Amino acid sequence: MSDKAKAPVLLDMLRQTCPRCRVGRIYPSSVFRGFPKMNDQCAVCRLWFEREEGYFLGAMIVDYALAMVITTAIAALLWSLTHWSFEKLCVVAILIFLPAVPTVTRLGRVLWIYFDQFIDPQR
Ligand SMILES: [Zn+2]
Repeated sequence: MSDKAKAPVLLDMLRQTCPRCRVGRIYPSSVFRGFPKMNDQCAVCRLWFEREEGYFLGAMIVDYALAMVITTAIAALLWSLTHWSFEKLCVVAILIFLPAVPTVTRLGRVLWIYFDQFIDPQR
């Protein structure tokens, strides 16, 4: 086993590398640079990232969960500082979260691909 294969899975998820070989990239650029088209398959091991039509529907659930956790954390932080009303906290927290949507969406897809490969590895 090489040193690359021993890297923590979380680090490989943030690097957006292929869940099978951990070398090929899922996206051609960083997760923190907007929403470019993802690669169809891994350039190293030829793993197809979108296994079937509608594959990323599950990623939307991951995106939603990430968005809820982040927005709730922002609202809790704002509440501890300002004690605003619940409605005002929700609106401001969502507005603060909006610029992060492309990054969270990409991260959700990467997490979904890793989760899918963990429970049903493609050979
Ligand atoms: Zn690969």
